[in-house]
Amino acid sequence: MSIKHLSTKVCIVGASLSGLLIANILKKNRIPCIVIEQNSYSALSTRSLVGLVDNKTVNILREYGLSDRLFQEGIPQSKCEFRTPEQSFILDYARKCQGQVRYTYPQQELFVDLVKKFEHTGGEILFDTQVVKITNNTHGAWLKCKQNTQPIAVNCDFIAGCEGVDGISRVSIPDTITQPRTKNFNYAWLTITVEALSSSEHTIYGLHSNGFAGHILQQEDISRYYLQIPVEDTVADWSDDRIWSELQLRLAKDDWKIKKGNIVTKKVLKMKCVTAQTMQHCRLFLAGDSAHMITSAEEKSMNLEIQDAKVLVQSFVSYYRYHDNAPLKNYSANRLPEIRQAQQFSESLLHMINIQDDHTSAGKSQQRVQKFKRSQLMNSEIYALDFARKYVGYVKSDRSTVKLTMPKKSANFVDFNPAELPPLKVG
Ligand SMILES: Cc1cc2nc3c(=O)[nH]c(=O)nc-3n(C[C@H](O)[C@H](O)[C@H](O)COP(=O)(O)OP(=O)(O)OC[C@H]3O[C@@H](n4cnc5c(N)ncnc54)[C@H](O)[C@@H]3O)c2cc1C
Repeated sequence: MSIKHLSTKVCIVGASLSGLLIANILKKNRIPCIVIEQNSYSALSTRSLVGLVDNKTVNILREYGLSDRLFQEGIPQSKCEFRTPEQSFILDYARKCQGQVRYTYPQQELFVDLVKKFEHTGGEILFDTQVVKITNNTHGAWLKCKQNTQPIAVNCDFIAGCEGVDGISRVSIPDTITQPRTKNFNYAWLTITVEALSSSEHTIYGLHSNGFAGHILQQEDISRYYLQIPVEDTVADWSDDRIWSELQLRLAKDDWKIKKGNIVTKKVLKMKCVTAQTMQHCRLFLAGDSAHMITSAEEKSMNLEIQDAKVLVQSFVSYYRYHDNAPLKNYSANRLPEIRQAQQFSESLLHMINIQDDHTSAGKSQQRVQKFKRSQLMNSEIYALDFARKYVGYVKSDRSTVKLTMPKKSANFVDFNPAELPPLKVG
């Protein structure tokens, strides 16, 4: 079969939330782009994923007119609870953060919103198409793709690699450049999705000597639970009866009862954290899990990927509209501090809520730190305020801080030839 040739300015690998946000904003700025996604629309829109949209992300979506349904159907969350068999402590993080909240809005719903908006404005997503090879250097970028048996070749100025963990963009950059560091945790989580109303209006972190148990509202009639389990456990070790009795035990509080229902999914989640030293190479830029990941206790991954996407697309817009290379050059440097801070916060929360089965003196000392952090959260106003701000995705002056900071010199878009630019030396 003959190769189909496509040409565009920015090619986005993966119709993830980051990929779709970039596509929408490029389209709004009339910068040509294509999204390539290996799965079908129906497979992606019918997944069942928790979405806890933090306040920073809400601001970004609102700024670009992508938050209408989120505000109509999302469920605002203002509190979280830490439970032990002895006591319960509810943190009203919204009250500490001038009313800023997080929204429960499933990831697949946000996916649908972003696809609809993009396609409505004439945007093109190639579903069922897999990127199989990326070539990228200072002169240009090329992708080889497959749509069933149809080979497709794309050439473009830039690639946005938004295709998740261990994807093709990530592995196209040598490890000597990204220098990834992986940390595996010595426990896993069993994630359980249940067709039932939520057993609580807020997220619960249950701390028990048997291990952590958690509860998060996923959708109005779908609940998500977590159980800390040994890394070697499989789904087969966890019958429905065992799950319910362990959840009830670890989350016990006075006469509180779990609202049981049909368990629709059980998955073992290996806990890990990957950090890289850079998120770019020549004309290839990574966003989301392709650049960094953490198995997060407070569902920060989707928020981080949207925040990456905003900075990356802003850099593309600066390049095309204002002929300014600097934001692209500085993309990693701009994003990495915030990503590291979010990863540290997630790790510290994981450390606070999971039980370390380590009886060495180092393990015992870790357990003392764990206990101290929990008491700080309850007793120190400063510690609790810092925690609340990181948890909610606090924005200092709501709305204004997420405005694009564009140079004012040229308000009119010029659809220029990239060859007119001085040689691009990014990465
Ligand atoms: C099993 C599982 C369950 C999870 N559940 C939740 C949850 O409930 N809540 C939550 O907040 N987070 C959850 N996460 C994490 C969360 O989905 C991601 O961390 C976050 O959304 C960031 O992912 P991403 O956008 O970088 O990539 P993804 O969301 O993984 O999106 C990448 C997209 O790129 C496509 N793609 C990959 N390779 C190619 C290729 N070669 N060519 C074309 N397309 C390609 C994929 O099909 C996919 O659609 C879960 C993760 C896993 C693995």
